Amino acid sequence: MPKGVNGCAEVVKLPGSRTYIHPHTYEDPNQAVRDFAKEIDASNIRIERVIGAGEFGEVCSGRLRVQGKREIYVAIKSLKAGYSDKQRRDFLSEASIMGQFDHPNIIRLEGVVTKCKPVMIITEFMENGSLDTFLKKHDGQFTVIQLVGMLRGIASGMKYLSDMSYVHRDLAARNILVNSNLVCKVSDFGLSRVLEDDPEAAYTTRGGKIPIRWTAPEAIAYRKFTSASDVWSYGIVMWEVISYGERPYWEMSNQDVIKAIDEGYRLPAPMDCPVVLHQLMLDCWEKGRSERPKFGQIVTILDKLIRNPASLRELANSSVCREDPPTPEFSVSTVDDWLDTIKMGQYKENFSSAGYVSLDSILYISVSELAKMGVTLAGHQKKILSSVQSLQAQGTHVQTGTSALRICPTSLTMMEQQ
Ligand code: AMP
Repeated sequence: MPKGVNGCAEVVKLPGSRTYIHPHTYEDPNQAVRDFAKEIDASNIRIERVIGAGEFGEVCSGRLRVQGKREIYVAIKSLKAGYSDKQRRDFLSEASIMGQFDHPNIIRLEGVVTKCKPVMIITEFMENGSLDTFLKKHDGQFTVIQLVGMLRGIASGMKYLSDMSYVHRDLAARNILVNSNLVCKVSDFGLSRVLEDDPEAAYTTRGGKIPIRWTAPEAIAYRKFTSASDVWSYGIVMWEVISYGERPYWEMSNQDVIKAIDEGYRLPAPMDCPVVLHQLMLDCWEKGRSERPKFGQIVTILDKLIRNPASLRELANSSVCREDPPTPEFSVSTVDDWLDTIKMGQYKENFSSAGYVSLDSILYISVSELAKMGVTLAGHQKKILSSVQSLQAQGTHVQTGTSALRICPTSLTMMEQQ
């Protein structure tokens, strides 16, 4: 155990569980790196290509020779030249944190290179990159069980972190990585710099940067970051996953989000979202943090749903407008507008070439017509037909020749918390 560690003596821990040690509790932060990260000989690393950019330098993929012969794929983060002592410390703090974790849903640290330049952090390679981009790329292409499987993995990783008394503070789909088997792993550990780097984090009136849309009200209001505030963020991640990477609260401003949440509004169920999943999201977004489920309970609930897929059949059907659609509502007047609104703008050409030029003409479109015009992905067909259904559901508002239809795409309605 390091000198000067104050740990979390007051935290009651289960026998056998470990508590995470904050690198700042070390008098010498280099000692934390030595304690928690293995030094790797740079000659065992082969850098192949650049895959991303971080605040401290490039992120590359490559191979690492382990135990002298076997090669594994790795991600390599390097610290760009000209760094200060503090930047080096902050950069390596991510390794000192990650190196304390050992769980299938937490990104695994292979080691660090600190004895020669550039300084590097080597982690397992996640072939499918970050979850938000991955979902947007594969919009509508997974079964609900696959989506719940991803969420189960993230919840399991978060349970492990909360058992270790580690509070993430920036849980969001952009900070989850996905491997070739669709396994999701929590990443982005570090000290204050994690939030400093996050483009979603905004300065609050009380100082400090916070990713407002993902953050629990008490953490925004008085920086009460706990595992319960991570649960709130987890609910937002659930919503991001089920909506295939939609931006939470769309184009609302941060101030409007804060106000809406305070007034009791919560994100509505995404399109095709099972009721049970939306209910779990709403539970994660309870105002009182002690009312929210614990990560252990979330894992248990998701396991039950996976074992009993019939429980996922009842959909929240939020894409069908109710009698009196809540504001803000949205009005479209052309097929192109409609396709843009439901994020299917890539099919504008297909619709116009097939002769679907007015909104009336799409009201009775069938799946085989969609397939004929080149909309072949099942998820996209579902998305389009589900929106058509919602237009039909407004039958009374839709008359032949009507130039504008009211639609409440899942993306534009707000729902009062039940
Ligand atoms: P970061 O600085 O950790 O946010 O990484 C920047 C980007 O590099 C991420 O958004 C990912 O696209 C990519 N990346 C980081 N770590 C990995 C990894 N272990 N495997 C694959 N891609 C990664």
